[in-house]
Amino acid sequence: MSKVRFLFALWASKLSIPVMKLTGHNATNYPGQIAINICPDFLKYIGKPEHIISVTGTNGKTTVNNMIVDMFEASGKKILSNRAGSNTRTGITTALIKGANLSGKAKFDTAVFETDERSALRIFPFVKPEYVLITNLFRDSIMRNGHPEFISNILTKNIPSTSKLILNGDDLISCLTAPENKRVYFGIDKLDTDLTECVNLINDIRICPKCSGRLEYDYLRYHHIGRAHCVDCGFSSPEYDYHGFDIDHDKNCVTIADKNGSGVYEIVNDSIFNIYNMVSIVALFREMGYSHEQLTEYMKKAKVVESRYKLVEENGVKIITQLAKEKNALAISRAFDYVRELPGEKTVMLMMNCLYDEQHWSENTCWMYDCDFEFLNDDLVKEIVVSGPRARDYRLRLLFAGVDDSKIKVCMDELDGARTISLIKGGSVCVFHGVDSFDITQEVRKVLVERARKLS
Ligand SMILES: [Zn+2]
Repeated sequence: MSKVRFLFALWASKLSIPVMKLTGHNATNYPGQIAINICPDFLKYIGKPEHIISVTGTNGKTTVNNMIVDMFEASGKKILSNRAGSNTRTGITTALIKGANLSGKAKFDTAVFETDERSALRIFPFVKPEYVLITNLFRDSIMRNGHPEFISNILTKNIPSTSKLILNGDDLISCLTAPENKRVYFGIDKLDTDLTECVNLINDIRICPKCSGRLEYDYLRYHHIGRAHCVDCGFSSPEYDYHGFDIDHDKNCVTIADKNGSGVYEIVNDSIFNIYNMVSIVALFREMGYSHEQLTEYMKKAKVVESRYKLVEENGVKIITQLAKEKNALAISRAFDYVRELPGEKTVMLMMNCLYDEQHWSENTCWMYDCDFEFLNDDLVKEIVVSGPRARDYRLRLLFAGVDDSKIKVCMDELDGARTISLIKGGSVCVFHGVDSFDITQEVRKVLVERARKLS
């Protein structure tokens, strides 16, 4: 009976894919929803590729997932992924439906799935990855995700015991996840810019996880990312199996090494977050037996999705649009830090929108007070335009951060903001947008490019 129900669910969901496409819908979630509605344990029965890689964590999982897919494709391998779709149970179910034939058997031998860390408990019992890559675990969307230890516990309880973990050795919260599983650690060697005290508003791991003693950081990069040891019990961050060093921003490259070799890799995007992403990906592929020679070539084909970060230079003005996921204080702090480090004068536009229409649930604004808006209180930041439904919340937060009110302009409409913001020749204009504002961001970019072209 269950087999009949499974096949019916499979066929109904498969049939829904062309129907959805014909009606102009993106069939990335709904087919999986149909299948689960008809057959609640559909994920148990659907055929899975023999090799499954799961990418999870708080920040960078979409970028890492897509870069892995790009690199497999560069190697000539056809793989199944949820790259175009959702990372929750219905999204992964949809990908498996697309990757199965009419009897439910998998057509691919390898799959790469970005997996929402909160959904792990509904996915991992059925979709058992050979490798689980955890980019990092930070505080994020606290109304949904609670605390990073809560997420780490979900992963510990649900990652299959057979999965090998690829973990960020500079992130103690990830390091302590699923302690019984086989694992390798990746990281980035000490940098000149590292500190020993946290300058961010939040550091989620301040005491020793073993004895609750005082944790001392040998070096700290941002938030809790760095290397630490306990002054009482000797607990310390693990040694790296894969590490990045000799980051050369002029030559745009980084060396990534392990005990059996090294390679010099072209940097895809020079933020430290993206260099972590690169090292994690090299660790994964090295575990699968690829050589550094192969990987340096494949990495050249890996792209950071344009919708997340785009730089256009027009008439001496750098126009940068960057995704800043609202509710994710850490990711936005990194993005603000990136702006602060940009050479020259700059103007900034904040148009992240974390307020939905009346029918949708709306997050509160507490994340703004975990986020380092103080990084924008900088002499080289000449003006900040705040737009969208949260414009006034952003203004208030910037005032708390000590930004002079004369630098802040409130433009409720995003396009008005784009028409108003000052453009500085030889400088940058940085636009931060949220996950729901890709379309308006394109329009904003167009306006800015047009205005920059006319600058004399
Ligand atoms: Zn201790």
